[in-house]
Amino acid sequence: MDVKEKLQQIEQTIQTACVRSGRDRSHIHIIAVTKYVSAARALEAVDAGIEHIGENRLEGALEKWEACSARASLHFIGTLQSRKVKEIVDKYDYFHSLDRLSLAKEFQKRCPEGKSLKCFLQVNVSGEQSKEGLPPEEVFDFIERLKNYPAVTVIGLMTMAPFESDPEKTRPVFRKLRYLRDEIRDRDYPHAPCLHLSMGMSNDYPVAVEEGATFVRIGTRLVGEESF
Ligand SMILES: *Cc1c(COP(=O)(O)O)cnc(C)c1O
Repeated sequence: MDVKEKLQQIEQTIQTACVRSGRDRSHIHIIAVTKYVSAARALEAVDAGIEHIGENRLEGALEKWEACSARASLHFIGTLQSRKVKEIVDKYDYFHSLDRLSLAKEFQKRCPEGKSLKCFLQVNVSGEQSKEGLPPEEVFDFIERLKNYPAVTVIGLMTMAPFESDPEKTRPVFRKLRYLRDEIRDRDYPHAPCLHLSMGMSNDYPVAVEEGATFVRIGTRLVGEESF
């Protein structure tokens, strides 16, 4: 199947999930995660109608920026060492994995004058040891501290659910992130409007959509692992 056919299938699934949960399709954005594939494959996704490209490593991020930035928004979705921030800060529009003040400091130092990076706070909802992200109980304190870094705008929360062979089991994780988002949103912080939820991957995006995802991050199921 080519990317276009895969996208059609995903589109169907998202629309069904929207109907089931009473959501408006226009509130959901698909990020094609291109970390396993070439720039040519990423462009194939753009040709198929994808408007958002996601990368989790610096090398791939620079390569996809060169290939796709004229035609898609770019999302950095992985962990990044503070000293590497300068490589992407003027190239990427969205950063999904903010979980340390040291990163915010570096964004502040490196961000072009007047630009504010659209950031998601990564939250470790499930509490898995192996997962990056802030524990939920530390999120409010972290947001308070971010007031001092106008180069960072918190547009939402991001999480990765543990892999489950039954994706239904991820639902409580996504729901908890939505409740946390609602709480932050209702506080009306100017530097943290926090309207968005970045959640759902190949295995669990239908559940994430039902629970309120506004950005789903889909790799394997959309662009595959190249050449098939
Ligand atoms: C790789 C990755 C994805 C996409 O994973 P798939 O299971 O291939 O869809 C989504 N989010 C993050 C943070 C990733 O690293």
